[in-house]
Amino acid sequence: MRRSGIVIKIGLVSSALIIGLAPVDLFAADSGLTRWKISDRNRPLPRVITPGTSSTPQEPGRAPSDGVVLFDGKDLSKWESNKGGAAQWKVVNGAMEVAPGTGDIHTKQAFGDCQLHVEWAEPNPPHDKDQGRGNSGIYLMSRYELQVLDSYENTTYADGQAGAIYAQFPPLVNACRPPGEWQAYDIVFRGPRFAAGGKLLRAARITVLQNGVLVQDNVELTGPTDYMKRPPYTPHPEKMPLLLQDHDQPVRFRNIWIRELGE
Ligand code: MG
Repeated sequence: MRRSGIVIKIGLVSSALIIGLAPVDLFAADSGLTRWKISDRNRPLPRVITPGTSSTPQEPGRAPSDGVVLFDGKDLSKWESNKGGAAQWKVVNGAMEVAPGTGDIHTKQAFGDCQLHVEWAEPNPPHDKDQGRGNSGIYLMSRYELQVLDSYENTTYADGQAGAIYAQFPPLVNACRPPGEWQAYDIVFRGPRFAAGGKLLRAARITVLQNGVLVQDNVELTGPTDYMKRPPYTPHPEKMPLLLQDHDQPVRFRNIWIRELGE
């Protein structure tokens, strides 16, 4: 029917308008909507990459071809101790394990805006409770903590459980697996931007999936994460090392890779 055809066309136009009117990020490069015609064959094609593979409980998956592998199960060569010198954590059965008391570790390379994949497993059997059960953390830019904790049948404060942006945002749901099982975080992080004089131009934002479930939906961080405080942003470079926390508990990590993102 002609009339229903018109309705469909209007529907398509409205969808296109909605897409076209998505919020504009002042820092994003021109998305191309103004520069290219619709379905323009002159528009540059995306880079071709080879996607990675999924992990199984027994075997970690493979990183996408443009990912930087930060831990491949063999050694800690991409990491160093926050106390200086080589990272002192243990490598056990293809995983790295926090060696309590040896300190946080950070990547030798610095990163800014990124997609990050990290798998982690909590000590089994569990011991202690609350913040004392399997606490570690993934600090983007060494200062913005995505909490790692055994939050499977272990209660703590909401903004301190696994999947929380520590002391700021509780996860949307508790998607934890039992201790001993491998869990995954898939993270999209956009770092803050500062003017030359140090003024904050743009807050950091983060999206996190835990075990394939959305737990942080593009939240805007108030500043660095801290215990019982919300300190303001202080200027720092656009790239900083990624840091993993030693919170005195033997949490394990495997299959860590990162993709740097453009504007
Ligand atoms: Mg922690």
